[in-house]
Amino acid sequence: MTELRRVRHAVDFDDLERRFPPAPEYFDNAWLDDVATIEAKQLARLQARATEAARVPFFARRWADAGFDPASIGSLTDLAAAPMYTVDDIRASIEANPPFGDYQGASVADAATEPLRLFTSGGTTGRSRPTLYTAWDREVGALLTARALYLQGIRPGDVVINAWAYSTHNGAHIMDEALHKWLNCVVLSTGTGNVTPSRKQIELAIEYGAKAILTTGDYLLHLADTAKEMGLDPKTDLALTALPNIGDTERLESTFGLPVLQSYGFHEVQWVAVECAEKTGLHIFEDAFVVEIVDVDTGEPLPDGEQGAIVITELYKTGSPQFRYNIMDLSTRYPRERCACGSWLRKMAPFAGRGDNMVKLRGVNVWPEALGAIVADVPGVSDDYFVRAHRSGNRDEITVSVASDTPAAEHGALADAVAKALHDVVGVKIGAEVVAPGALDPLTGFGTAAKLVRFRDDR
Ligand SMILES: [Zn+2]
Repeated sequence: MTELRRVRHAVDFDDLERRFPPAPEYFDNAWLDDVATIEAKQLARLQARATEAARVPFFARRWADAGFDPASIGSLTDLAAAPMYTVDDIRASIEANPPFGDYQGASVADAATEPLRLFTSGGTTGRSRPTLYTAWDREVGALLTARALYLQGIRPGDVVINAWAYSTHNGAHIMDEALHKWLNCVVLSTGTGNVTPSRKQIELAIEYGAKAILTTGDYLLHLADTAKEMGLDPKTDLALTALPNIGDTERLESTFGLPVLQSYGFHEVQWVAVECAEKTGLHIFEDAFVVEIVDVDTGEPLPDGEQGAIVITELYKTGSPQFRYNIMDLSTRYPRERCACGSWLRKMAPFAGRGDNMVKLRGVNVWPEALGAIVADVPGVSDDYFVRAHRSGNRDEITVSVASDTPAAEHGALADAVAKALHDVVGVKIGAEVVAPGALDPLTGFGTAAKLVRFRDDR
């Protein structure tokens, strides 16, 4: 029988912290690395990851087909020679090799020699997409998440409510591990409003002096409304000191009187980038990632300053590699320069929507999230919206539905104003309709879904 190895055998924590310094000391060392140090670290780690990924059948097969030799990486730009893959390639891998696909760098059989965890994503339609995490991957992933939470204002010793959904998805669990193991926070895992009712969440936050409530921005704003219904002031009675929530920045900031520092990550790799107090872009944790931006249609790498799809290569894992994963989230990479905070770490723009939601409308690329931002600026329109692509005759059309609390008699004129704003910015005709507040909830999943749905393709 194989000797049972527990976390302390599987992970050399001294080595791990040398390679990936945790918060708060990270911000006094690797955060301030000069460009040569940043890039030397990246290149050495990239070469090591290429060697490791080449042992995984998914990568070996695709690299052989594309004629890519992992030993050929002599500079960071050589990375662009490796073929990218998208979620469609992952789905095909699972279909051909159920249930784990052939992209995992670990297998369940390895669990005796190293504790493993399994999380899945997707799955509302079709098979869920599994990722196996080694003990090392869990620790580094949590450490990276903890760096982001620290920068966003969470401090050791804080009581923090984790109101994310504890499920098959990694999200709530990695937050939990980051807070507990790498920030010494006292975590109260309430789960979502379905698990712990909103009033109870507020009562617990006040009773234990919670400094942050981790959840979506939408649910946190709902909690603020609940607090007001209970006769409480969200600013002073809740007394939060950090807003690590993803959502409507302006409303969150005015409701709680705190800055929102944006961050970016996804479940296979955890936290990739976070804003510093300067709020001029999200610094990428470059000791753990290489971020490229590519053209959504052609996959060609784009120059700094141009918006495209994010391609991620992680530099820290020992289990399932992510090596040029085109995640199809939209962002822009900024030219490398020294930030006023002192860091040379490259910055990227906040998440700007989904590349695979792109609709080509009479030759113009249209992203639903971008339409949402345009209509929210029209006076009388709330920030609640839903975009539908559909066929009319033999043409593709887009209709944007927006919610407004104006009288129904004014909805026609307001719809015209929304359509005009869309045409002015996008340059093609887009339909608009105005509905009452709450009418879009069944479409967006507000109140029930962790991530709101803003787009449906009915073509
Ligand atoms: Zn900065």
